[in-house]
Amino acid sequence: MTTSPELDPNAVAPSMANLETIVSLSKRRGFVFPSSEIYGGINAVWDYGPLGVELKNNVKRAWWKSMIQERDDVVGLDAGILMHPNVWVASGHVGSFSDPLVECGSCRRRFRLDELPGAEDLSATELRDDTIVARMGLRCPVDQGPLSAPRRFNLMFKTYMGPVEEEANIVYLRPETAQGSYVNFKNAQQSSRKKLPFGIAQIGKSFRNEISPGNFVFRMREFEQMEMQYFVRPEEAADQFETWLPRRLAWYKAYGVTPSRLRLREHAPDELAHYAKKAVDVEYRFPFGWKELEGVHNRGNFDLSRHSEMSGENLEYFDPATNEKFIPFIVEAAAGADRAAFTFLIDSYREEEVRGETRVSLALHPDLAPYKVAVLPLLKKRPEIVQLCHAIKDDLKRDMMAVYDDTAAIGKLYRRQDEIGTPFCVTVDVDSLEDGAVTLRDRDTMTQERIPVEGIKRAIQDRMEAARRAIAGG
Ligand code: ATP
Repeated sequence: MTTSPELDPNAVAPSMANLETIVSLSKRRGFVFPSSEIYGGINAVWDYGPLGVELKNNVKRAWWKSMIQERDDVVGLDAGILMHPNVWVASGHVGSFSDPLVECGSCRRRFRLDELPGAEDLSATELRDDTIVARMGLRCPVDQGPLSAPRRFNLMFKTYMGPVEEEANIVYLRPETAQGSYVNFKNAQQSSRKKLPFGIAQIGKSFRNEISPGNFVFRMREFEQMEMQYFVRPEEAADQFETWLPRRLAWYKAYGVTPSRLRLREHAPDELAHYAKKAVDVEYRFPFGWKELEGVHNRGNFDLSRHSEMSGENLEYFDPATNEKFIPFIVEAAAGADRAAFTFLIDSYREEEVRGETRVSLALHPDLAPYKVAVLPLLKKRPEIVQLCHAIKDDLKRDMMAVYDDTAAIGKLYRRQDEIGTPFCVTVDVDSLEDGAVTLRDRDTMTQERIPVEGIKRAIQDRMEAARRAIAGG
């Protein structure tokens, strides 16, 4: 096991109360809603509301920027969710993409063995052991009924392609985006004329029929992944792995995640997936424990070899510099857009006492915040003030998400914006009509600065740029 050197054993996790607060704030303010709520909901699917979709898009954009925009060696891809069924045979998913399931003999509830109280730390070998439930005396956590021995439960969703519902027409909803990148390795490499090492990055929906979903958007049955596959010469894979791992850890820190709530955890040899040579998770200290945010894997040449064998297509790479032909190794960085968005939300949640009142804010990085700026009138009864607000907001909207709100007094308007993480507020008052200046308020410091109307966009952009420079330097 490895842990990050900066790991602070006393790091305080966000509390379970924080989790409940985030779930209710998400619903109330429009970040995340339970899916199909008017029908009583559907387990393990969540919908992103007006603010949530902005946050998640910003998370995805931030990832895309660091993976593709700022690099010369990674290209993007958007493969289909449905793929040829043999893809999943070759990848090993049909045979072994499963979790250990136990069933209660009295209430018939099903559980993932490694999520039962007392079984969380079982090794991968123990989880496959038929006698483990009896040996440990594990009982149903709901009604204390007897539990079955574990059996492997395949997590892939199946459906049928075409108008006939028969075995031959079964297709799967992809459980990961990675395979779309592997089967397009040649297409992407040759069309973009990239030389090794080079990567393919994808963001998209994946589906897993999780046995015990839960903890809000942490574990869902429909979710979004952000995965990058880096194709390298075999002898370079180990070094590339060690380069990608700290880079990925740094990404979360750069966007503001509390460093002491992040750590690295290496998979034990018996925990490694069938394809992996080495795997390290970037973990976050959620209220429900240290859990994976992202997995960085050295997958060897397993994937391209298997797809070569199964498809009959030669997926070797020809290196013009050395005249060698070989199957590249793959270093993968596999993250979740929902888990990342959730982490940014819960980690940025702040409560503080200000003048005898509790001020709630989300200290989101400005690039992640749903709205960058709110334009607020001090007196909504004065039409000239409202007019100026709209003129400023309309101009800002051309470059960033900006919003106008006049449905409360200014103190309450600020608190509302703080609570959804808006980094800047612009307030127009009576003086603005005389001196052509407005107040720019900062969410985190609550400092206010008087700025001429024509300089307001620049001032906000400069502050956003400064926050970005902190990323580059961080
Ligand atoms: P876990 O151990 O939590 O089940 P995993 O090791 O199966 O995760 P990977 O297959 O490595 O996860 O998937 C890459 C990333 O996709 C994960 O780090 C996570 O951020 C995200 N992810 C995986 N499963 C889910 C899910 N059910 N809901 C939300 N995000 C998920």
